[in-house]
Amino acid sequence: MSSTIAEKLNNVRQQITDFAEQREQFQHPVQLIAVSKTHPPQAITEAWQAGQRHFGENYAQEAVDKAQQLTHLDGICWHFIGPLQSNKTRPIAESMDWVHSVDREKIARRLNQQRPEGMPALNVLVQVNIDGDPNKSGLVADQIQPLLDFCQRAENLTLRGLMTILEGTDDEQAQHHSFKQMRELFERYQPQYENFDSLSMGMSGDMRQAILEGANMVRIGTAIFGKREYL
Ligand SMILES: *Cc1c(COP(=O)(O)O)cnc(C)c1O
Repeated sequence: MSSTIAEKLNNVRQQITDFAEQREQFQHPVQLIAVSKTHPPQAITEAWQAGQRHFGENYAQEAVDKAQQLTHLDGICWHFIGPLQSNKTRPIAESMDWVHSVDREKIARRLNQQRPEGMPALNVLVQVNIDGDPNKSGLVADQIQPLLDFCQRAENLTLRGLMTILEGTDDEQAQHHSFKQMRELFERYQPQYENFDSLSMGMSGDMRQAILEGANMVRIGTAIFGKREYL
């Protein structure tokens, strides 16, 4: 039995509410980013009709194409969450509202230079490789400060927080441990930066653990749109 995107979206929202209620320390609401990568504009339109406004995309060209095709969807907000090469920063700076995957100064500098005049500052998160696994992207925790400072100073960027991706483990204890380290890192830097309010962590497979450890942004694809054909 397959259910509609609207039904799956409602399930995910309900789960988010349930998990957020289970935690005692963190009272902040959890923002849902619907990760629409590889899914057609029609799927995004269906989710938008069901009230969803924040969408995440991974591939620069696809992200930009969809943003251009869907400008008629009022209030839609685009989050770029994938790896970003420096030759792709311009179209991203011109069409996205958020970038979650800033992991080096070169990328931050280009996004800042290329953000068009007249647009609001681009919201950015610094991506952290919280496990220190050399195969993963993101900066290891003790190397993020210079990049945070750079983003904070950049006129056309607004530093909003941190992002991480956990992959390659189904071990719930390990997931809890990594998400907790992320939250502690987030709390350590929060007092230093004015608009530092977003901790983006948790995907379809580890959303519960992320929310229980204090995530306030989750990026959910499969549980809303179903399996992807590629990647
Ligand atoms: C694909 C992707 C997601 C969503 O993953 P699901 O397992 O489909 O929920 C979240 N974050 C990033 C960075 C992704 O690439």
